[in-house]
Amino acid sequence: MTKYNSKFIQEMPKTDLHLHLDGSLRIPSLIEMARAGNIKMPSYTEEGLKETVFKSHYANLGEYLHGFQYTCAALRDLENIERASYELAWDNINENVYYIEVRFAPQLMMDVEKGLTFEAVMIASNKGFEKAKKEFNNSAEVKSGARPEFHYGIISCAMRKFGPKGYSPYYTNFYKAMEYSKEMDVLRAGAMQMVRAAVKVRDELAIPIVSIDLAGQEDGYPPGKFKDIYAYAHQHFMHKTVHAGEAYGAESIFQAITECYADRIGHGYYLFNEDKIMDETVKDKKKYLESLISFVADKRTTIEVCLTSNLQTNPSIQNIKDHNFKHMLANRMSLTICTDNRLVSDTTVTKEFQLAVDNFTIAPKHLKDLVAYGFKKSFFFGNYIDKRNWAKSMMKHFDQVASKNGIEIV
Ligand SMILES: [Zn+2]
Repeated sequence: MTKYNSKFIQEMPKTDLHLHLDGSLRIPSLIEMARAGNIKMPSYTEEGLKETVFKSHYANLGEYLHGFQYTCAALRDLENIERASYELAWDNINENVYYIEVRFAPQLMMDVEKGLTFEAVMIASNKGFEKAKKEFNNSAEVKSGARPEFHYGIISCAMRKFGPKGYSPYYTNFYKAMEYSKEMDVLRAGAMQMVRAAVKVRDELAIPIVSIDLAGQEDGYPPGKFKDIYAYAHQHFMHKTVHAGEAYGAESIFQAITECYADRIGHGYYLFNEDKIMDETVKDKKKYLESLISFVADKRTTIEVCLTSNLQTNPSIQNIKDHNFKHMLANRMSLTICTDNRLVSDTTVTKEFQLAVDNFTIAPKHLKDLVAYGFKKSFFFGNYIDKRNWAKSMMKHFDQVASKNGIEIV
């Protein structure tokens, strides 16, 4: 197994393509926001919150998700959205992450009566990212060519499940307005509103909303139920990623690809587990998985791998070495290393890469591939020629950092 020193992992150019804004706030900022906005939290100190909410280990998914109610409440404020976006960009730049795609469900932050419209939420977030980007890209170290430029994109999530209470003021009103409709019709209508708004804001305001995503409770709300929403995105040249196979079987991944045109899959964890397939029409589970794995690999549909997050929310993974990442590597899939939630998972991109190289056999050539997929399979906002040149320049920078650290790419 090749050993990599932490200095190299820190210095190499990186990306984060699966990164939730509401799961990645700085704790001191959250405390300030909560105090200013009278948001009730179990503690107002960093130590206290780490003991009660943002832990290094969680008993189950429910406990993991618990903290989001506080961060989402704090983000129902335009200044806070801008600040959180700005700080998140800098936290990444500071560990040599030169490209991020940040996702969130705007409807969770929306409260139209208070001016928190879809447009306002997107404008505020974009302002924060743009400010950090300009500051860094105009700095002497970037101008001199010592460090590459920073870029970003925004991924707008639909919630696959929301209810009449406790999600957001927007969702509560939405439910009320559709009180005579069936649950699935309400959820689909909410998601359709989101994708139409995302396309409009991208086209009219030139905000880099590069993709849509489907987040929230996977069990009972499979991707196929949202295929009309994905078709709309597809027909409007919007990229697509789907949380799939995180808490449900491989058929969820199958639907994401065959019905939602997914370019990338969030987690994709259960792509390798026969026992997780619930679809009774699948008679030969082994063959089904073999075909699906090969199809995903051949199409280069990229899996957004979030190691720490999976360890924290999936009790079946006792040890990092048991993670299906080993099968993903063995099947030569297109993979990108991501954090999911920097705050909730108490992690960074550097930590995730270190975890990967310390626990799995990854030769320098394959480490370079992992980094390259982050740039090449990104939903870079711009034309293909620009994207290609940019990705190439990033990999050139990778080679320079590797040679400086005595890493031979073989
Ligand atoms: Zn996620």
